[in-house]
Amino acid sequence: MNRGTGHSLVCGLEIHVELATRTKVLCACPNRFGAEPNTLACPVCAGLPGALPVLNAEAVRLAVLAGLALDCTIRSRSVMARKNYFYPDMPKGYQITQYEEPLCVDGSILLDDLPGGPRRVRIERAHLEEDAGKLLHDAFGTGTLVDLNRCGVPLLEIVGAPDLRTPEEARRMMEIVRDRLEACGVSDCRMEEGSLRADVNVSLLDEATGQFGTRVEIKNVNSFRAVERAVASEARRQERILGAGGRVVRETRLWDDGRGESRPMRRKETDDDYRYFPEPDLPALRIGPEEVEALRRRLPEFPAERRRRYRDEMGLLDADALLLCRPPAVARLFESACAAGASPRAAADFLRVEVFRHLNRAGLDPADVPFGGESLARLLAAVGAGRLAPVGARRVLERMFEDSGAAADPEGEAERQGLLIRSGGVGLDDLARRVAAAHPAACQDLRAGKEKAFSFLLGQAMREARGGADPKALAEALRRVLSGPGHESAGLTGPAEQAGGKGDPA
Ligand code: ADP
Ligand code: MG
Ligand code: ZN
Repeated sequence: MNRGTGHSLVCGLEIHVELATRTKVLCACPNRFGAEPNTLACPVCAGLPGALPVLNAEAVRLAVLAGLALDCTIRSRSVMARKNYFYPDMPKGYQITQYEEPLCVDGSILLDDLPGGPRRVRIERAHLEEDAGKLLHDAFGTGTLVDLNRCGVPLLEIVGAPDLRTPEEARRMMEIVRDRLEACGVSDCRMEEGSLRADVNVSLLDEATGQFGTRVEIKNVNSFRAVERAVASEARRQERILGAGGRVVRETRLWDDGRGESRPMRRKETDDDYRYFPEPDLPALRIGPEEVEALRRRLPEFPAERRRRYRDEMGLLDADALLLCRPPAVARLFESACAAGASPRAAADFLRVEVFRHLNRAGLDPADVPFGGESLARLLAAVGAGRLAPVGARRVLERMFEDSGAAADPEGEAERQGLLIRSGGVGLDDLARRVAAAHPAACQDLRAGKEKAFSFLLGQAMREARGGADPKALAEALRRVLSGPGHESAGLTGPAEQAGGKGDPA
């Protein structure tokens, strides 16, 4: 991006993703978010002398799967390493990570959906490591306490090449990495819970000399929007410095999303500061080609491809295809509804309008939907056949969230709630007769030619029907009843005239 100052933006992301294993990467503690502080920690987590780590094979498999999803080469031998530094959230005094011999190298992803067309961005490496704990500042009275629950949660650090040229590209890279890793189930990728996080590196390239500028790293970037804003903000800050004749210093800064700016955190350490060496308590990690190929076969369709398929093969509008191609729970619900016979367009409409509305209102996640697409297909079949009005379908859907019986048989539930449309039959006539009997004054007005009274009666009848009747059929039934015995002089118009006189005597 030319910034009109003779400099262009250069950006590279380091993305950390927590792997969704059952247990931690170096011990048997549960890997779970949101537990009471320090309830998921053992001597390994606490770094007690003599405690020995054991590498979790499932973490390795998920890391390989993630690497494959990012088009990386998986190295048959990789080495765990000690990165030494002291920080109170890491009681061992070092992090077990990978350094010179990482697990995954030389990947790339394609950034689509950009105004300037698609762009390929390289991934330098992705390596397996352990997460650190968390400091709780003033959470319990005053002072800072340490929660070790996150110690040893398996992390994959994905190091992107400095190939990004705009804040939008940085955001898009983050989204695509999320899409792909979420699709293969290696992580829930919840930025708001920290299971997906980014450090953004920004420098300005001098266009006249082609020289790279000094790089600044920004940490604590916790949402897609924050990625975009942090990159843009840092580019502006460096421009101001260069514009004033100053020099950018190599440092690590902390993003403050509330203020929309970063502040200095520390001068950047070099690799020497970390005194890396191979982890003596763990053997080298070896993975055979058969194992890698077996995992490659587990790679799913990714959201970008799925979106194209929904649009080009299933006939959805692109906006709906985008909405339904992820997260996996949504795509599964949509596809299983279609497989059970729902029309893709009808299923997409119903998911977008009714199901998402219900999820938002109830504060539920798509993964919490307690029924499958077959239930949805049955409900939509009743609507499609005209046996259930959209308002009625909404009420049945609400029951389906609470009651597995309703979810198994939506039409039966509609029946029980009296929501099935009784098309032109005796049912609607009965209802119309009840309404007429309950409102003699309105019937009188209608006979006197006051057409407004008809709207009133129809409104009452609709209320009686609780959304379970087709308004047109109900209006016809009302006309029919009101022109029958006892209502002879009612002003009649419309198709009900031919049907007049069919009703039984009151
Ligand atoms: P560090 O130890 O400093 O985190 P890494 O190799 O782990 O180093 O990460 C380097 C990150 O910085 C990569 O994401 C890379 O794309 C990015 N980067 C490297 N050079 C530049 C540059 N000139 N401008 C912006 N980002 C850069
Ligand atoms: Mg790094
Ligand atoms: Zn533990």
